[in-house]
Amino acid sequence: MTGLILFSAVKVAVLFVADQFKYEYLNRFNKKFISDGFKRLMKDGLVYSDCHHMHVPTYTAVGHATISTGVEPRIHGIYSNYWYSRKEGRMISSVYDKKFGRSPMNLRFPTVGDNLKRIYERSKVISLSLKDRAAILLGGYSADVVLYLDREGRFTTSDYYRKPKWLKEFNRTLKGKDKIFKGNSALFELFKMALKEENIGEDEYPDLVMLSFSSLDLAGHRYGPESKEVERLVLQLDTIISKTLKLLDKEFGKGNYLFVFTSDHGVAPTPKDLGGYFYPNKLKDSLNSIMKKIFKKDSLVLFVSSHLIYLNYDKMEGLDSKMVMDTLKSVMMRLKEVLKVYTSYDLKNMIPKDFVDSLVLNGYFEGSDVDMIYILKPYWLYTYGNVKANHGSPYFYDTHVPLVFYGLWKGRVDSRCSITLVAKKLMEALGIY
Ligand SMILES: [Zn+2]
Repeated sequence: MTGLILFSAVKVAVLFVADQFKYEYLNRFNKKFISDGFKRLMKDGLVYSDCHHMHVPTYTAVGHATISTGVEPRIHGIYSNYWYSRKEGRMISSVYDKKFGRSPMNLRFPTVGDNLKRIYERSKVISLSLKDRAAILLGGYSADVVLYLDREGRFTTSDYYRKPKWLKEFNRTLKGKDKIFKGNSALFELFKMALKEENIGEDEYPDLVMLSFSSLDLAGHRYGPESKEVERLVLQLDTIISKTLKLLDKEFGKGNYLFVFTSDHGVAPTPKDLGGYFYPNKLKDSLNSIMKKIFKKDSLVLFVSSHLIYLNYDKMEGLDSKMVMDTLKSVMMRLKEVLKVYTSYDLKNMIPKDFVDSLVLNGYFEGSDVDMIYILKPYWLYTYGNVKANHGSPYFYDTHVPLVFYGLWKGRVDSRCSITLVAKKLMEALGIY
């Protein structure tokens, strides 16, 4: 097939998603950055200073699926990390698959990688992360290699994807299970091996390699975004980016690659003066006892999972579902932590009145089993007692993320932009847009 002229601008596009990297970190740690990591990206790349995830919830699976597809959750269908499935009668993961264990089956829109493989079958698409949902939802249906960590701390894939021959050898080199401080550097080593073993950039078909660095998210939840641990991981990413740019210069040459840096969501500050922690588990019990007094029926609320509420239709004989939802809504609106409550009836006909309505609507997937969505007031964080800080809200601290394209374009854009731009620019660089 040599001699075929392809119209892709680059040989290789490399996308780095740093999980829970809020935009603010670029400013806060600027003085501590080395000269050729983030500083090189900011100086010589195309920087979007006001890029946001425009959906609720601002969670990992949702953010990654939006980055990879360029459409909002109401279209791509990944509307949370986990959700309740009435068919299964339990919570399932966004990448749950009955047949393969894990797969992109719940994703209803092709990723950039899927589009690339549809046009150039021989292009290679690789997606790597510490988290299964990040790797799978970036990669999509037709990715060649999709790897993530298993419970034992080794990289693995699901039966849905091909298992690379070189993986066993790589896993032998892994030292320790410390996901927080060793995870991101292990991922970088995996990236280098994948570039070599999968012959990335070696033929005339453009390739796409995507990495999602999860360690910062784990540290942010455990220690809070103000912590020394978070600082240490941001500075580690600075070094990884510096090494990556040098590697891409050497392997593919300047002008032959596009490097993209962004994040799947930000994080709220650890609660101090404003807000606090909110426990969805306790909400279900208190709502059920109030609803019992009104309707004389037990357990009308089946499930509450962060912002999502599911009703128990088995218990609702003789009751009108809209009336039950409207009653529940007025009960919830009396809670001091709650800003807004939406029933599925509201959402189906809603004309957004403010940014919260818009972000909720973008994140509402009509094909889901969800009956109601509630949004907490600013600086209130969902917790199950297991985190110091969290994300998921429609507020700027959770939505505002870095977005830099390096290698093809230069400049700075200060107007508001949506994270859906990533997929469009990647496809432009790969010559498939
Ligand atoms: Zn998280």
